[in-house]
Amino acid sequence: MDNNCIFCKIIKKELESKIIYEDQNVISFLDINPHTIAHTVVIPKKHYSTILDLSNDDILQLFSGLQKVVDLIKKTINPDGFNIGINHGRVAGQVIDHLHIHVLPRFFNDGGGSIHSIIFNKPKESLDEIYEKIKKYGNRS
Ligand code: 5GP
Ligand code: ZN
Repeated sequence: MDNNCIFCKIIKKELESKIIYEDQNVISFLDINPHTIAHTVVIPKKHYSTILDLSNDDILQLFSGLQKVVDLIKKTINPDGFNIGINHGRVAGQVIDHLHIHVLPRFFNDGGGSIHSIIFNKPKESLDEIYEKIKKYGNRS
């Protein structure tokens, strides 16, 4: 828990929120500034800044909660689809430093784009160069 974190305050019920799902490890509530109907965030109850801070068990619990929330919104709001994503770091738009997964219900002709519409900063390097740089530190070399 982080005493200065808004989302930790929501977990502790010190701050009002519209909670739609809660279990031992995960909580999910409606975003206060929705970009679409039932725009929701799903968060771990432990205060982590980014996905890099989680253990395998934490990841499993978080994604399990995420799946339940998506199922719940599908059944109640019946969107045509979803965008599901994380703003990781200030440059990517992360304002709250408590890891949260955005769930954005989508409808045909709602005017929105796909994840590809967030950024198109075409790389100067070739795919081969980028691949070489990354793969030697991965598990395929
Ligand atoms: P970020 O930009 O960090 O990925 O997104 C943070 C999200 O949290 C924003 O969409 C914002 O509207 C939402 N948010 C910020 N403060 C509160 C709050 O006090 N209650 C709720 N329900 N959502 C919040
Ligand atoms: Zn927190």
